[in-house]
Amino acid sequence: MTRVFLSPPEVGDEERRMLLDAFDSNWIAPLGPDVDAFEAEFATRVGVAHAVALSSGTAALHLALLLVGVGPGDEVLVPSFTFVATANAVVYLGATPVFVDCAADTWTMDPGLVAGELDRRAAAGRLPAAVVTVDLYGQSCDYDAILASCDRHGVPVVEDAAEALGATYRGRPAGSFGRMGVFSFNGNKIITTSGGGMLVTASAAEAERARYLATQAREPFPHYEHTTIGYNYRLSNLLAALGRAQLAGLDSRITRRRAIDTRYRTGLADVDGIGFFPIADYGEPNHWLTCVTVDPERFGADREAVRLALEAEDIESRPTWKPLHLQPVFGANEVVGGHVCAGIFAHGLCLPTGSALSEEDQARVVAVVRGLTRG
Ligand SMILES: *Cc1c(COP(=O)(O)O)cnc(C)c1O
Repeated sequence: MTRVFLSPPEVGDEERRMLLDAFDSNWIAPLGPDVDAFEAEFATRVGVAHAVALSSGTAALHLALLLVGVGPGDEVLVPSFTFVATANAVVYLGATPVFVDCAADTWTMDPGLVAGELDRRAAAGRLPAAVVTVDLYGQSCDYDAILASCDRHGVPVVEDAAEALGATYRGRPAGSFGRMGVFSFNGNKIITTSGGGMLVTASAAEAERARYLATQAREPFPHYEHTTIGYNYRLSNLLAALGRAQLAGLDSRITRRRAIDTRYRTGLADVDGIGFFPIADYGEPNHWLTCVTVDPERFGADREAVRLALEAEDIESRPTWKPLHLQPVFGANEVVGGHVCAGIFAHGLCLPTGSALSEEDQARVVAVVRGLTRG
């Protein structure tokens, strides 16, 4: 039996063919026809006019925040319940993340807390420079509510949809709700280029500016001429070719991850003390990861016991994100609420959800969890 990983990359013949085609065409550079095609195909898929292929989701977040005007001394509202990259990008710009708790019924940024905090800050004359929303574990935030309060205060939204490619909110694709949307193609995401990211925006001017900043802010001169500080953030053409093949298989991946999620929910439905990541009725998640919560009193064992029992069977699982307001590196940052995501972290576990996970391997996961139940 081989180890079962949490969310390993899945690549096939089409990925190999497109990668080698790009290689043979000699476009082995951070520009080329596959970058252009990947951007165009990606923009179409997420329903946003422009897409800029970058070296990582973190790079995309960095440029998105820069483009909406975040700078030194600013504050930015960021959910506490997310991967650290969301907040790191704020700090790269000399700004300070202010953390906001999630809602218990979606695990995404609490729209009521966002509205209250924006009202409070407006009254005090210190509105944040931006709000970053995160479509967590492949589920969109409640955008009607969040955008209403951000629009009312004129605060730009950057949408971190790194985990949510292919998800929808009221029928519209995740990533299309912020002034800028950000995606990741890291190895564990629903599609991968081994490493990479994408920034999407409705504005042609902002997309051009992103491409300029991502290529060392080089001016259109025959020699190297620079008037501003740039970055080396473009995606290579080889990896864009890989991304095109992965994107073409996105719907099939979502279908398989949905089936995996459904099998966990049915396989563990009758187990007392196991709860599931709540799926809101306002959209369709991409089912990137299935997360459960373990109530130690009712289940008879805690989250860590479940994780170790799985590990003993060579099955990888991982606690849900540790809230950023509890991370030592952000210990001095302000937090609005915080008990909801801290509670989820205390009991939450992400189960293997790779799109190539076999039914046999998944049955082993379910059996290990069931084996720990009381009685
Ligand atoms: C993966 C991830 C990122 C970072 O993407 P990279 O491509 O790894 O830089 C940012 N935000 C969230 C929510 C993520 O899950």
